[in-house]
Amino acid sequence: VRLAQPDPDIRETFFVFGTLVEIETRGVPEDKARAAIAKVGHRLQQIHHDWHAWRPGRLESLNAAIADGRAFTVDPALADLLREGRQLACASGGLFDPAIGRLIEVWGFHADTPPEGAAPPDAVLDALVARHPRMTDLRISGTEVRSDNPAVQLDLGAYAKGAALDLAAADLRAEGIENAVLNAGGGVQVIGRHDARPWRVAIRDPFQWGVVAAVSLHPDEALHTSGNYERFFDQGGVRFSHIIDPRSGRPMQGIVSVSVLDTSGARADAAATALSVAGPADWPKVAAAMGVHAVMMITDDGTIYATPAMKARLEPVDGGFPAPV
Ligand code: ADP
Ligand code: MG
Ligand code: MG
Repeated sequence: VRLAQPDPDIRETFFVFGTLVEIETRGVPEDKARAAIAKVGHRLQQIHHDWHAWRPGRLESLNAAIADGRAFTVDPALADLLREGRQLACASGGLFDPAIGRLIEVWGFHADTPPEGAAPPDAVLDALVARHPRMTDLRISGTEVRSDNPAVQLDLGAYAKGAALDLAAADLRAEGIENAVLNAGGGVQVIGRHDARPWRVAIRDPFQWGVVAAVSLHPDEALHTSGNYERFFDQGGVRFSHIIDPRSGRPMQGIVSVSVLDTSGARADAAATALSVAGPADWPKVAAAMGVHAVMMITDDGTIYATPAMKARLEPVDGGFPAPV
């Protein structure tokens, strides 16, 4: 009698959203896994193209229409994404607000590599902040989008990866994939589990090469980390993060890494950005308002904070990890 061989783990990597996206399936026949992963890979490339803030595509066309005071019809997926973004922006009290694309652009972060330049003049930043671009300026009826405020320019970078992984996971489930993990530079989404145990992922150490802790994800959870250690520039000893405080128009300070665990990737990603802006004093309030409970935060001085819901999920890695306060 020959025993059936277990299905191999299938792993494929794509370059999309300016980062490597890895999809791994567990316990799925190879043909079925490869076909499903290829389909999702195409979908992610399409989404990347449609949602890109500064290359020709649907979002860029929408931004041009908004600047001209015109309405523009988008596809249903983008309309849903904008509604979700507007709702998350409201919940965050405007700390996460994808309408601040012009600010992100003048800081030089509309580029594939971090800027080497200098901070923009105060007058430029203050003038942009004074025009108050907000997601609440958007009027979305069906798939038709317009803005009451022509200063709105959409940049979905703070939650697009989370939302895209939500869609990719739904696609994989629709293809009958019951156990998989999707990993996209700072964002992870799981489907099901890794055999009898949960999928386990690591949170990177923002100060040095390595990891601070591991987290076991329950089926269908997402973990998103925002940090100022990947995209930033240094000037006169100050680090300028790519995460901008919409209230001041200036990069956030004081926090080096925020990780959020949630059942929605879009919400986890948006919240990681919002809590980075909120800072060491205000983040618990903002987390509660956004409905996220499992949060880990590392401040400039290396202090690690974790909510009780996150502490319950953190596991030490080789050599242990500093106890979160
Ligand atoms: P990562 O790039 O590591 O995923 P984030 O999820 O925090 O980090 O996304 C940062 C990106 O979001 C920036 O590059 C910019 O495009 C955009 N962004 C910056 N600040 C804000 C903000 N306050 N609200 C919404 N989007 C922002
Ligand atoms: Mg992100
Ligand atoms: Mg984010």
